[in-house]
Amino acid sequence: MNRRMAQMLGCEADMGVGHTPFEFLDEAGRAALAAHFVRPQPHQVEVRYFRADGTSVWTLLDVTPLLDSAGRDSGSLAMVKDITERKRAAEALAELSERTERRERILTTTLSCISDFAYIYDREGRFLFVNRPLLTLWGISLEQAVGKNFFDLGYPPELAAQLQREIQEVFETRQVVTGETPYTSPAGQNGFYEYIFSPAFGADGAVEFVGGSTRDITGRKRTEAELRSAKETAEAANRAKDEFLGNMSHEIRTPMNGVLGMIELVLDSDLTAEQRENLEIVKSSADALLTVINDILDFSRIERGQLHLDSIEFNPGDTIAHIVHPLALAADHKDLELILDIDPAVPETVTGDPGRLRQILVNLLGNAIKFTHQGEVVLRVTLEEATASDVVLRFSVTDTGVGIPKDRQQSVFEAFAQADGSTTRLYGGTGLGLTISAQLVQLMGGRIWVESEAGIGSAFHFTARFAFDGHTALAAPPDRVDPRGRRALVVDVNATSRHLIEEMLIGWGIVPTMTGSAADALIALRAAPAAGHPFSLVLINFRRPDAAGVTLARIIKDEPAIAGASVVMLTSARQLDDSAQAQDPSIAVYLTRPITRSALRGGIVGALAAARPRAGTETILCVEDQPELRDAVCRTLHRQGYAVLEAANGPAALAQLEDGDKHVQLLLTDVVMPMMSGRELADQVTRHDPAIRVLYMSGYTSDAIVRHGVLAPGTDFIHKPFTPDQLLTRIREVLDRPGPGQGRGA
Ligand code: ADP
Repeated sequence: MNRRMAQMLGCEADMGVGHTPFEFLDEAGRAALAAHFVRPQPHQVEVRYFRADGTSVWTLLDVTPLLDSAGRDSGSLAMVKDITERKRAAEALAELSERTERRERILTTTLSCISDFAYIYDREGRFLFVNRPLLTLWGISLEQAVGKNFFDLGYPPELAAQLQREIQEVFETRQVVTGETPYTSPAGQNGFYEYIFSPAFGADGAVEFVGGSTRDITGRKRTEAELRSAKETAEAANRAKDEFLGNMSHEIRTPMNGVLGMIELVLDSDLTAEQRENLEIVKSSADALLTVINDILDFSRIERGQLHLDSIEFNPGDTIAHIVHPLALAADHKDLELILDIDPAVPETVTGDPGRLRQILVNLLGNAIKFTHQGEVVLRVTLEEATASDVVLRFSVTDTGVGIPKDRQQSVFEAFAQADGSTTRLYGGTGLGLTISAQLVQLMGGRIWVESEAGIGSAFHFTARFAFDGHTALAAPPDRVDPRGRRALVVDVNATSRHLIEEMLIGWGIVPTMTGSAADALIALRAAPAAGHPFSLVLINFRRPDAAGVTLARIIKDEPAIAGASVVMLTSARQLDDSAQAQDPSIAVYLTRPITRSALRGGIVGALAAARPRAGTETILCVEDQPELRDAVCRTLHRQGYAVLEAANGPAALAQLEDGDKHVQLLLTDVVMPMMSGRELADQVTRHDPAIRVLYMSGYTSDAIVRHGVLAPGTDFIHKPFTPDQLLTRIREVLDRPGPGQGRGA
């Protein structure tokens, strides 16, 4: 045994001396060797040797008999070659092919099990494989199918060409291709197939073949079509319903308006108390019915996308004050405090739909008043966001009412939904108000949400976007009196409104002292003169009875030490309307609740001005043929402390001048009037007293009027319509200008 052999067998030290080959061989090796010794001849056999450590090694054993010179057998020469590697490779190969075959079997079986049609196409455009369902459809065997193409298999040429083309595309683009195709079965039935072709890449990265699968989607298509037509039918029905609702509401609304108009006419006539009461009930029912009809009409319009928003320039603060006043009456009837808090940052002019804004606010405030039995309702308006071209305002209506349970809060915005079905009879309503509000808010580019706790109250918030040209409001008219530094005493029982008033007063530089009762107010008032800082203003906001406020005012006026303070009284519109005592002389200015910032400021300035020793209060003669406008202008002037004379035309104005004992400083006159023009009137008036200033008002622009020679250039003029502030500013400008013969500053 040579060294390599000894190494192979692990018996290096003695190189096998004293051993026989049999000890190292496996069974087959021993048999082969034994046979060789029986009949010596060259022999090659694969045998396994065992090593000393028990492991084995495959070898190729090559034995050759050795003969001596006499030709006798004298032994054998054995050559042993290690073939372990070769053996292993062969085994691996066998295993691999076994595995490959198995995998093929699995794939074939799988592809044949699925109900979709599956096949493999080669680059030459022939089937390599087709699964059983497709073979069954074609009625041929796999052997018959392999090597054929769609044309061979009798596909309609157009479809066959399309499929071939798409498969070719997969080979070229290496991308998956999908599509749908209609088909007609051999039995003549129409249907739809959906197919997908995907690339299988070879070792070189090119597409080697394309796997295709086709699915019959006739059923799905049919279901889809049915769903679509069901949806269309439902939508059409819905549209028809909305249209019907809309038409019906419209048809009902017209006569309803007639009914309401007649009721009002009759209410204006002489009636017995009982008749009046009954008719009031009819009216309130008719009003309620009209609200429901209007709601339904709006709802159906919004649903049909027929509701469009106006784009009108308006002053949010003024608009809100107008909206709130009638609601204040309803709140007052229930003894609720209605408080308005408009952030001064809210711009004075925005562009949007004030009518629709009003509708949302009326609904939210109406609900808040309806669902609140005691406490207060607060409307807050703040500036949420401002860009170069628009602003987002945020409106919050908070109440201390019944609240809405958490689980019902979302559904109150749904059509015809009410938080508690059982409260319907108690509170009335259709459940449409919030739905419409939510949709209007959406149209206004905002959102609406609610925070509420049952038994505590609710807060409805919404935002709305308005166009805003960034142009800041007109400068406020110069006040006739500067309120800064004045001391004011406030008597208000309600903490929320007390806080709000305090905040506004401080904002204007007024020094407020806040009290919650008449007794406290009197204590503070009486202590002030002694301390050296008497109050110039007393603001009374009593809920009820107003008589208590009047009593307090009279006490103040009766005590000389404190009578110098002007009294401003906040009252409800109802009381102001129907009580004679409302005009008590101890009260300088009445303001109706809820109070707005501008009204409170105007009231305070008016009260302070009234308290001024009035050496010759300025008197204005207002001449305007339109009664509504004349009324509005005179009221504005009056409120500012001017003495006002009024006339509907030129001759009447001249008559006023003749017998009036008032000394008129300003003639405020319309330009175009019957009987005598404004210009003619002014000429006569100034002839009568050259010191009288003239301010013309007209619906024509000053340009047009000058162009037509009606007025001379440079004449003082205000263009109708104007706001009270604009009018007051113009009047101050005209009155304060030094005039001929007055020599002010000259
Ligand atoms: P309506 O008031 O006509 O029933 P709305 O859509 O305006 O319809 O309101 C839907 C429901 O939401 C109301 O019926 C009420 O249950 C609830 N709700 C609305 N506002 C309030 C509120 N401020 N407090 C308590 N519940 C409210």
